[in-house]
Amino acid sequence: MAKKEKTGRITIDRELCKGCQLCISVCPNHLIVVSDRLNQKGYYPAEFTENETTEDRRCTACAMCATICPDLAIEVYRE
Ligand code: SF4
Ligand code: SF4
Repeated sequence: MAKKEKTGRITIDRELCKGCQLCISVCPNHLIVVSDRLNQKGYYPAEFTENETTEDRRCTACAMCATICPDLAIEVYRE
C-alpha cells in the first residue's frame, strides 16, 4: 500500500498578523489568501483557505509560512 502523504493545516492569528503577505508568497500550494475583513489593528490579515484544499493543493505542513512570518502568527499542525 502506498504511504499516505503528509497533510497538515495551519492557524493564523488574525490579530497578530500585520498583513505583510510573506506567507502568501511562500506557500507552495497557494493555500493562504488575504482576508476581506480588517483586524483590530487595521490590517487585512492572511487567511488559510482550508475549504479550498483539494487533492492537488493541500497543506503538507511544510511550515514555510510559519518560518517566514515575522509576527509569529502562524501555527502548523501535522495530521
Ligand atoms: S505549512 Fe506549507 S503548505 Fe501548509 S499553508 Fe504553510 S506554506 Fe502552505
Ligand atoms: S507572514 Fe505573518 S504577518 Fe505576514 S501576512 Fe502572513 S501571517 Fe500575517
